[in-house]
Amino acid sequence: MTEYKFEAEVNQVLSLVINSLYSNKEIFLRELISNASDAIDKARFRAISEKDLLGDDTEFRIRISADEEAKTVTIDDNGVGMTKEELVENLGTIAHSGSRAFIEQLQAAAAAEEGSDVSLIGQFGVGFYSSFLVADRVEVITRAAGADQAWHWASEAKDGYTIEESDREGRGTSIVLHLKEDQQEYLRSWRIKNLVQRYADYVSHRIEMPAEGGEGEEDAAEEFSQINTASALWRRSASEITDEQYDEFYKHLTHDWETPLTRSHFRIEGMQQFTGLLFVPGQAPFDMFTPEGKHGVRLYVKRVFIMEDCKELLPQWLRFIKGVVDSDDLPLNVSRELLQDSRLVRTIEKQVVKKAIAMLEKLAKDSSEDYLKFWDMFGRVLKEGLHFAPEHSKKLAGLVRYKSSTQEGWTSLAEYIERMPEGQQDIYYAMGPSLSLLENSPHLEGLKKRGYEVLYMTDGIDEWAMQNLSEFDEKKLVSALSENLDLGDSEEDEESKKAREEEFQGLTQRFSTVLDERVQEVRLSERLADSPVCLVIPEGGMHAHIERMLRANDQDVPKTKRILEVNPEHQLIKHLHELNTREDSGQNVGEWIELLYDQALIAEGSPVEDPASFAKRVTTLMEKAAFSQMMG
Ligand code: ADP
Ligand code: MG
Repeated sequence: MTEYKFEAEVNQVLSLVINSLYSNKEIFLRELISNASDAIDKARFRAISEKDLLGDDTEFRIRISADEEAKTVTIDDNGVGMTKEELVENLGTIAHSGSRAFIEQLQAAAAAEEGSDVSLIGQFGVGFYSSFLVADRVEVITRAAGADQAWHWASEAKDGYTIEESDREGRGTSIVLHLKEDQQEYLRSWRIKNLVQRYADYVSHRIEMPAEGGEGEEDAAEEFSQINTASALWRRSASEITDEQYDEFYKHLTHDWETPLTRSHFRIEGMQQFTGLLFVPGQAPFDMFTPEGKHGVRLYVKRVFIMEDCKELLPQWLRFIKGVVDSDDLPLNVSRELLQDSRLVRTIEKQVVKKAIAMLEKLAKDSSEDYLKFWDMFGRVLKEGLHFAPEHSKKLAGLVRYKSSTQEGWTSLAEYIERMPEGQQDIYYAMGPSLSLLENSPHLEGLKKRGYEVLYMTDGIDEWAMQNLSEFDEKKLVSALSENLDLGDSEEDEESKKAREEEFQGLTQRFSTVLDERVQEVRLSERLADSPVCLVIPEGGMHAHIERMLRANDQDVPKTKRILEVNPEHQLIKHLHELNTREDSGQNVGEWIELLYDQALIAEGSPVEDPASFAKRVTTLMEKAAFSQMMG
């Protein structure tokens, strides 16, 4: 017999499980059945390619029995079992999903000083360690599929466990729970049966208990009878499934402890027949924006579990969706390679995407509150679809939500159009690094003065998303920062416009000379009201903050030269115009143009190119102003 120490994090989980979880102790059964079911899935999957793996033991089942005298409950499966190394890895460390999520959430709660509210924790899936909710000693007797040696693992959760050689007739695992003094209720078979029906009815394998009656008699061979429906939940008809059952299934599938926001359960007939069950989680996974983050549906073929995280059936931009696809037509030995280049798979994916979009449309229609919850968590991801799946951009345009200059919270494009005042032709939006920057952006002055609402876009993905979102409901989407902004209501006719351009030509020319290589062009502006200048983006150009972001990620992006717009109505510009015509103005006008350019950079959130010179100019200017105020 060898003694082992638990990894530090395991002790952490164990002490929380033992000391903090008072309610909902019954979840141990769900966790252990779920592990047994996973183990059977693994055995069945391996048997597809390893012919002799199962031997004669081909009837998969999970057995739950109680021993009144020993005060134990045993959960036994004929799944894949564990080797000695796997025992150490799986039951002595925290490498697995359920418990890791548990620790993370607890740490978050502790950081938020909600540590006292541990009753909440009862909702967590804490995997195998939840055994210690009801047991003070746990034994695991297991034999890996294909192995001759069985092993016995035991622990009292003190800080370690023991492993020794053992016997076990067939492949699989028995978990023996020595119930605590106050947890003896689980010896009652009706109690167990009840729990199974509540927590594990959807488990697609037989769950058995000793048949009533013959107990304790001399009959050597105990009879077992099935206590669950053992039909995969997604294969049943939706009308027979309660919300609670769907939610339980979702938790089982994802290790999430919150209920999902919404779901879609469907059957596709036709070229590719399959059943799908999709969920939108109630909380965002922590790895949604990391490149290694897992995503995809769980794939079954004719009810046989094939793989987790099948991303071939769900595009990146729907990576927040969880669920199951069970195909009637894919081959059982389907491999990653086959999935990656199979027309069948693409046909299935197409349908899954359609259903996912329809599910979101329905959520938006039925409960805008839940939809906005969804949007807060996953909107940034969904917008990637506008870029990567332009074929869906029409539908996606109905699903996007933005902050805006006139609304609290999110608004849809349809709502925006409803609010459009008489005379407004287009939908206006502005893109920038933050809301506060956009709210005060000079580019919007003219629009706001006209009473036009402006949508705010602050996500990196918006730059790419908007490339495929140029229209909604026959209204053009126009950037308030782009050179093409045409407010179209100018009172001026072409002629007086021309005349004004000529009038100011000396000044714009001067701007061009001073700024030279730094801007593409200098021209008069219609979009400004209170600010003297702003920088706008030429057609096809990129926003400055996006360029900076890409460069920060080591991408080689050419710098877009922007257009400087000058507000001829602004007092300062008028003065400059006047000064510029005088012989002696030279140096000052040049300096002030430099300052105006730097101001325009600051207003769009860009750094000034030469901060020291900028500071010097401002100082000189203030010095002069202070002097003249003192004298004057
Ligand atoms: P999770 O199920 O989230 O991985 P658990 O704590 O429930 O976490 O289980 C830890 C690991 O122990 C499992 O991933 C599995 O590898 C192994 N395990 C647990 N129960 C069994 C079992 N009945 N048969 C085989 N392996 C098991
Ligand atoms: Mg588990």
